[in-house]
Formats: sequence, structure tokens, C-alpha cells
Amino acid sequence: MQDTAQIRTRLLARRAELMGRSEAVATDLRHERDPLVADFADQAIQRENEEVLHGIDESTRHLLQQVDVALARLERGEYSCCSRCGQDIETERLQAIPEADQCACCARRHSA
Ligand SMILES: [Zn+2]
Repeated sequence: MQDTAQIRTRLLARRAELMGRSEAVATDLRHERDPLVADFADQAIQRENEEVLHGIDESTRHLLQQVDVALARLERGEYSCCSRCGQDIETERLQAIPEADQCACCARRHSA
């Protein structure tokens, strides 16, 4: 069993990092829209960039949600318990992906 305080610190650091990324993307998106370039080709590039940024924004939000869920699970004492099969999530896995809520086996089975 890992130290809860230590895990919480890691999750909060991860959360701060993701918030920072989300903030940077939001700033970029504002910048992309303003000013609107006159050239059609440039507008296409601008739109493409916006799409990429929106994609990053979406995945960042998704990760933030997972971190929040992990924090809630930690408070309930369910952090290292797989949300699908109830087995312990591998320690190495949690070290690599602190917001993971499934064991490696379930994650593999359900991501495909
Ligand atoms: Zn599992």
C-alpha cells in the first residue's frame, strides 16, 4: 500500500500541470482567432491549428476529469482498486499513470 499523502501530492501536481496546459491552449485559441487573416490559405491553416488545439483541449479536459476521479477514489480508499474487476491495480501502473482507475488487464481489454 502506497502512502496516500504522497499519491495525493502526485495527483495534485498532475492536475496543476494539466490546468496549465489547458490554460495555454485557451490562450492560443484566443490568439488564433484574433486577428483574422485576410488570405484564404492562411485562414485554412488557422482553422487547422484551431482544430488541433481543440483536440488537445478536449484530451486535457478528459485527463483532468480522470485525475479528479482518482482524487475522489483516493479519499474513499478505493484508489488502488480496479473499477471494473475490483482487483488491485498494479503499483507500477499507478506509478506510470497516476490517474488510472483500471488494472492493466481491464484497460487492455476495454481500450481495444
Ligand atoms: Zn481490472
